[in-house]
Amino acid sequence: MNLKMIDGLVEESLNGEKLSTARLISMVERKSEYAPYIMEKIFPYSGKAYYIGVTGPPGAGKSTVVDRLIAMLCKNKYSVGVIAVDPTSPFSGGALLGDRVRMHVKHDKMDVFIRSMSSGRVLGGLARTSKEAARILDASGKQVIIIETVGVGQSELDIAEATDTVLVIITPESGDSIQIMKAGLMEIADIFVVNKSDRPGAEDISMSIKGMLGRTLHKRDWVPLVFLTSASVNKGIEDLYEGIWSHHRYLSQDSKLEGRRKKHFEQEMQTRIENEFAKILWNFVDKKDIAKVVDDTWQRRTDPQIAAQNLVRSSLKQAGILTPES
Ligand code: GDP
Repeated sequence: MNLKMIDGLVEESLNGEKLSTARLISMVERKSEYAPYIMEKIFPYSGKAYYIGVTGPPGAGKSTVVDRLIAMLCKNKYSVGVIAVDPTSPFSGGALLGDRVRMHVKHDKMDVFIRSMSSGRVLGGLARTSKEAARILDASGKQVIIIETVGVGQSELDIAEATDTVLVIITPESGDSIQIMKAGLMEIADIFVVNKSDRPGAEDISMSIKGMLGRTLHKRDWVPLVFLTSASVNKGIEDLYEGIWSHHRYLSQDSKLEGRRKKHFEQEMQTRIENEFAKILWNFVDKKDIAKVVDDTWQRRTDPQIAAQNLVRSSLKQAGILTPES
């Protein structure tokens, strides 16, 4: 592989070639030495797609709902890219046209690209590579990108920082609205989907969420919608689909979408700048000094926070980055 070959792959991917898109995503996922170059080439062409985030507990029916949404989107002539992040799986890749195993509806004639990715080392979170993969799909011309993650802590917050409309999928078994509020889902959901509504308790949980939203969200001008679905039998999906576009219409007024995306970029840049600082500054720390502070804290001689602070400060003073008196 060389830069000329990468240029070729990028060009093909931008022209909608699925195989080239898949190869670029693989390289980014494997953190290939060419990954930064690929992203730099791709980036100017991204930013056109609409991003939908889907999260919720394992088994809530996320992939079933996503499959139904893909079918609806395709019926309406949208091209779709899906990144399904599975934090529990060490495997990634997936088939070019999707994981056949999880497909509930036929996608053969549809313009769909589905990619499963492991979340890598980011525990339960949305790996940076997932966002980059989504950007590659965006640049390749997919009009709607769906990012699906299992909600196990941090990932649902990350997804809210990477997408335009967030769907939180729960079931009648997910507990009451107090638990949902505690899990921080009230803040991130633009749309609640009570899936498996064929089971008892679905109406109750829907009412309970609506009640909670009415009481707690007066500061927000978008009151999250709540839909009942039974994805396995394709019930309620049309309403949900309309709901997603009504959120899109809402965001399209008064540059709200632009504002939301800009906020996301600020958050992304903050993380990237922090990472870059850390990467550079690590070079000024002597590994022997680290071993020493680990031992100091292990022996209970120094508090870990103070030890870390002292180590960083003295290393940076030694390197002349900090003045002796700072
Ligand atoms: P995920 O882990 O959230 O992606 O959940 P899946 O989409 O894999 O669904 C988990 C299981 O729930 C599968 O066996 C589905 O067939 C089933 N399921 C999905 N939607 C429904 C539904 O609306 N009603 C019922 N009863 N089962 C469903």
